[in-house]
Amino acid sequence: MDLQTKEHGNVTEDLKTYRTLGGWIEKPADLQPPLEGHTNADVVIIGAGFAGLCAALELTRHRVKVVVLEREFCGYGASSRNAGYLAGGQGLKYDRFLKRAGHEKARQIVRFYEDGVSFAEGKFAEHGIDCDYNQSGLIRAGIDPSQEARVRDDMRISAELGCPSEYLDQAEMRARGIPPAFLFGSYVSNGGTLDPGKYVLGLRRAALQAGVTIHENTPLLSYTEGPPVKVRTPRGSVSAPVMILATNAYTPQLGPLADKVVPLRLSAMETEPLSPVQLAALGWHRREGITTMHWVMESHRLTARNTLVVTTKRLRYPFGSQTPDVPEHAQYRALRMALHDRFPPLKGIAIRRCWSGYISYADDGLPVIGTTGADRNIYYAAGCSGHGVGTQGMVGHMLAGKICGIENPLLAMLMQHIPPLTLPEPLRWFALNGALKVASRLDERSNRKARAV
Ligand SMILES: Cc1cc2nc3c(=O)[nH]c(=O)nc-3n(C[C@H](O)[C@H](O)[C@H](O)COP(=O)(O)OP(=O)(O)OC[C@H]3O[C@@H](n4cnc5c(N)ncnc54)[C@H](O)[C@@H]3O)c2cc1C
Repeated sequence: MDLQTKEHGNVTEDLKTYRTLGGWIEKPADLQPPLEGHTNADVVIIGAGFAGLCAALELTRHRVKVVVLEREFCGYGASSRNAGYLAGGQGLKYDRFLKRAGHEKARQIVRFYEDGVSFAEGKFAEHGIDCDYNQSGLIRAGIDPSQEARVRDDMRISAELGCPSEYLDQAEMRARGIPPAFLFGSYVSNGGTLDPGKYVLGLRRAALQAGVTIHENTPLLSYTEGPPVKVRTPRGSVSAPVMILATNAYTPQLGPLADKVVPLRLSAMETEPLSPVQLAALGWHRREGITTMHWVMESHRLTARNTLVVTTKRLRYPFGSQTPDVPEHAQYRALRMALHDRFPPLKGIAIRRCWSGYISYADDGLPVIGTTGADRNIYYAAGCSGHGVGTQGMVGHMLAGKICGIENPLLAMLMQHIPPLTLPEPLRWFALNGALKVASRLDERSNRKARAV
């Protein structure tokens, strides 16, 4: 089979397995009605992922009247498309923010991510959400000896910043049943893996039970600053003294943050369930979520349904910060290759689904949380750079507290942070995709070395 036919074959396979909705969620049977006519609220929240739903729950607990507007249905965005790693400080790009933030601020930032893990664990307990959480800890692994120095460097910096980890050499990796392609790594016991679809739908259920008014199939079309802020939707409007934009990677399209964060597209792929024989041969008994030391990491994890989910590997910036829901064949091809490279015994395993989604990214890799509008009454939370399973819900919760008059020093520090400005188009498109291409080439070099062994 020549390359073209092979690629064509993959495209056909992708189209059979591609899901616009992502891999973890179905449209809820009890879709909440779209907004019709005018309504008033104390706070209007736009977007119902982890951030929007946790903000709504906390505001409602304080007896604040909340209206949530969601363009599709709760969880439609990154909250149901991610890899399901509930991770603390491990895997952060320390080099991107340490110099800029300074040591003390960097420690607080790492604590913020570590706290995100306990926040999410608290939410599972508080609302009785069963999301197949496996508190296994996480491994950041090297696949080629040249990555060892970076693993050790990362471990040293992360320990200094308050996130200690344990080095696992080849023998310790094998004793844990970690597949042999992952040579060594750093292990943290905080966090683990979960089913993000079950988590976000659990939050939706909790919000509805708490009496939160949610309008699904209701996009914000435009808004006028206030107070009150006036939000227009296709068939209605909401007036509220305060608005929260919990729209993450979709925020730049709405105006705010267009010069501070960019959406990056990334993809995921899930295999068919492994048979008991395949699972036993793998021997990965604790099922620690694994990420790699590539410049753009790969992630590999087993799910409660015994499938293997592979994510990331390649990133792409769509021109003009657009976020279309379309298949990303080059990324699926790269994921298929990663799956075959890391799990040779599973060669030929069928792919059950593939999907794509968007993270929001600021150039220093730090969260982008703040207020906008002449009266600073429009709050936003974005820029979690692919680390939002724990923290984005916590940010929503903390913003809700702030609106109710509860000051949180960690939130105050994050809100004071000014992210670097992005380049204007088309320079942004060229610069970002150029840098991502270089990262991809460097990663491919490590992969080639690993294959040659
Ligand atoms: C493939 C992938 C893998 C990832 N893996 C991980 C991981 O393993 N661990 C981790 O910590 N993080 C991961 N992330 C990142 C994580 O999923 C996000 O940081 C987090 O889910 C963001 O939550 P959120 O509520 O801020 O935004 P979202 O979940 O994106 O919610 C925003 C919502 O706003 C809605 N919306 C947009 N525009 C409008 C509008 N005009 N009107 C009304 N509603 C609107 C959207 O429909 C969406 O539901 C991953 C992301 C992706 C895409």
